[in-house]
Amino acid sequence: MNIHPNKKNRFKISLLNKKEFTITCELVPGRGSGSKAQDKLLAFAEKAALRKQIQALSITENAGGHPALSPDVLGREIIRLGIDPLVHLTCKDRNRNQLESRLFAHGREGIHNLLVMGGDYPRYGFKGFAKPVFDLDTVQLIKMVDEITKGFEIEKNAPGGGVKLSPIPFFKGCVISPFKKLEAELMTQYFKLHKKVVAGADFVITQVGFDARKFDEVIRYMRQNGLNVPILGNVYIPSKAVVSVMHQGLVPGCVVTDKLMLMYEEESRLPDKGKKNRLIRAAGLLAILRGLGFDGVHIGGSGLTCEDIEFVLEKGEKFYPDWRQLAREFSFPQENGFYYYEPDHKTGLNTDVPTDRHKSIPERSAGYRFNRQVHKMVFDEKGWLYRPARTIFRKISGTSLEKLFTQFEYLIKFIGFECRMCGDCTLSETAFLCPQSQCAKYLLNGPCGGSRNGWCEVYPFVRRCIYVRAYERLKSFGEEERLRDNIVLPVDWSLNRKSSWINYFSA
Ligand code: SF4
Repeated sequence: MNIHPNKKNRFKISLLNKKEFTITCELVPGRGSGSKAQDKLLAFAEKAALRKQIQALSITENAGGHPALSPDVLGREIIRLGIDPLVHLTCKDRNRNQLESRLFAHGREGIHNLLVMGGDYPRYGFKGFAKPVFDLDTVQLIKMVDEITKGFEIEKNAPGGGVKLSPIPFFKGCVISPFKKLEAELMTQYFKLHKKVVAGADFVITQVGFDARKFDEVIRYMRQNGLNVPILGNVYIPSKAVVSVMHQGLVPGCVVTDKLMLMYEEESRLPDKGKKNRLIRAAGLLAILRGLGFDGVHIGGSGLTCEDIEFVLEKGEKFYPDWRQLAREFSFPQENGFYYYEPDHKTGLNTDVPTDRHKSIPERSAGYRFNRQVHKMVFDEKGWLYRPARTIFRKISGTSLEKLFTQFEYLIKFIGFECRMCGDCTLSETAFLCPQSQCAKYLLNGPCGGSRNGWCEVYPFVRRCIYVRAYERLKSFGEEERLRDNIVLPVDWSLNRKSSWINYFSA
């Protein structure tokens, strides 16, 4: 039995009601279990519950990759205060079984609103950096939540298998990061968004950003491409300290340009250190997002009080009639950044005409051309070596030759692709770049939100994001949309250190 069986999900009702503009606020629980900051956070929740302007409080999970109080605990306390929590569920610290078990716990506790994300790469922890898990990626986790929402069918061969569990009414969202500089970074974000929606995402929240034209781009893209789920725009109100960390590129996925940084520096000399200006700017963005057709806003920022939120909401209402003018001013674009649409010079936003991406085609690399050709010949059912290869590999399977053959395969693939021998090879899905060795988060269905100027968030200026490279390789053959269309299943770890070629042909 559910602890809160009859409770109405006000957040869901509001977000699905086209006439309502939904407000959520983000809370960041710190480390420890009884800190003053956590008391403040609950006091905020109590006031928010009484004032009824906010439909859900979103609670981060180990934000920045640091350990913190679990959002589940705060979620339960917030429910008791009478406001819906929106609990973050991330892939970074738990494997698929632990995630499933957490979802069952959420079902019992009545925590139904989830924001599903990959999560920040784990950093400082007990006696050193934590080991990143990322057993599932966001698309796969959304799929899991979706199946549990509909009533999970346990596989027939698993213990207790063949049974359908009772549905749990999860309402699950995902994140999109349109604030990217390179075409390859932006397009792979949009391609991944398609997969998230197909996998079952019920709503979308944007990453933190400061460019009205990008906000316009994401909502235009979703409408034009049939991604018909509600979207909340992120209204983030950073302090000067936070904005300066973002400006240095130290917060994955958050871009602060020189122009915005300069504005913050000037404002910090004011008697209130620029706080009022920051709140007014946030109110302006809220009005713009409403004008653009967003279904609501997700407000976050350091040290915000309920009164600050109230100020932003009231001013946002006042500013709303002038949102078009404000949109022209809320413009802190990245230099030479790629936009999906051609600009509309009248409004400062976008036209409905996509930018011609095919004006520049990356050069085809000899290595990729070779691997692509070999793959087609051997692993494609229509390839002329497919049948002979299948016969040989099946014959080797289970014999004394299998071990030797597996080592041979490993040697070839280690030299060619830095293979980690997971045995469930997905090389052909990522243009022959191995996600197990070349993506810090082992992602199989598209990039995380953290890349910056094409570099991996974990190894900036050392490694380019695997999905930027995969996009360029695929685009050189006009096949980049493959990154949008195929949802890749999680790795089956029972195949670890076995021959993926034999596994493939024996399936
Ligand atoms: S390679 Fe790309 S997707 Fe993987 S962790 Fe780095 S930035 Fe994220």
